Amino acid sequence: MKLYLVTALISFGALSSTYAALIRHQADIVPRADGSACKLPSVRGVDLSLGFGSRPGCLTSVGTLNGFMFFVDFPDKPATETPQSLYDFFLPAAADWYKTSSYGKLALNVTMDSTRFYRMPTRSDRYGWDRVDGDVMQKYLQDAIDVYLKEKGSLPTTEVLYVVATRQATAINISPTFMADVRSRGGVTVAKRAVTVGYDAYAAWGYKLLNHETGHTMCLPDLYPSQGRVGLYVGGWDMMGLISGHSPDYFAWSKWKIGWISDSQIGCVTEKGSTNHTLVPLEAISSPNEIKAVVYRKNDTTALVAELRTTEGVNTGSCANGILLYTVSANTGSARGPIKVIDANPGSGGCKGEELNDAVLSLGKKASFTIPGWNVAVTVLSQDNSTYSIRMDVS
Ligand SMILES: [Zn+2]
Repeated sequence: MKLYLVTALISFGALSSTYAALIRHQADIVPRADGSACKLPSVRGVDLSLGFGSRPGCLTSVGTLNGFMFFVDFPDKPATETPQSLYDFFLPAAADWYKTSSYGKLALNVTMDSTRFYRMPTRSDRYGWDRVDGDVMQKYLQDAIDVYLKEKGSLPTTEVLYVVATRQATAINISPTFMADVRSRGGVTVAKRAVTVGYDAYAAWGYKLLNHETGHTMCLPDLYPSQGRVGLYVGGWDMMGLISGHSPDYFAWSKWKIGWISDSQIGCVTEKGSTNHTLVPLEAISSPNEIKAVVYRKNDTTALVAELRTTEGVNTGSCANGILLYTVSANTGSARGPIKVIDANPGSGGCKGEELNDAVLSLGKKASFTIPGWNVAVTVLSQDNSTYSIRMDVS
């Protein structure tokens, strides 16, 4: 995984007709901004800022993202499996995950060399993977590329190079993404980014490791903390926070940033007042005018998001359906908490082992929540299987 609010609250179900009428009136007079008005600008110098703007170095996220995969083993850890078995471990499952999550907008096309394992020149436990950084990765990648070139004469140029280590190499225990041009020692650029796949994929994450690491190549940041409990910021609500999370689809904000959700699918709030919105599930294909997320833009760097999570799409394992609230900070870097889920049910014990996993709002559980420090309250007005209606009060 590694890489380089307070307002008047009403209780659910207890809306008097007079108050409901008042709310509707307020909703009528507050203008709804175009979705684009809620974009935060990208902040220069912030590692993988979640703001919008030019995306230098970010790979294809709409269309076809091409990758090439080859397999390596080591003098101390010769492979005992076949290259094809490792390819089949990741694909087509990881490509299918993207097809579903992106509503068909992204095709991950990974070709491979299944003829053999290419033998690295150094023992697996001598690469320094216990303190892997850019230099360690560079040496590892160049060793792999050189061995490949020596045996095959050429390496196809591609967008993402996946160098996959044999399952036997337990010392290659994490699978970082190399976030710079990938060059041979001779200076030939062979890829724009590389993922060095290691033992954690087999031992812990499965094929979804590719969906996390490839997310970095599209400039998505890590959403878990660089230090401390993995679930601290976002629980199991996004692949970039916890690969094995119960609801691992990318947040609506991230999907908006990488082009899977359009401006017309964002309900944008920029002013004080009350607005009503009907949300459709994040995970499912919907029409261009159905709202995937309601965004309140507080200032140039900070926003609040409400989206509907269900058990559709890639989130079939979700242990809590409802309106998920979170903050986005464009000037907070990767692994420092650029997204933080707001727990509408604090102290509940959560579900599937994580307090934040039941953070959502829904009728019958908790229908309204005032976000501490924001002067914003979000209330579920009605819900069925496929849509939730909410009100956002900004005071
Ligand atoms: Zn990561």
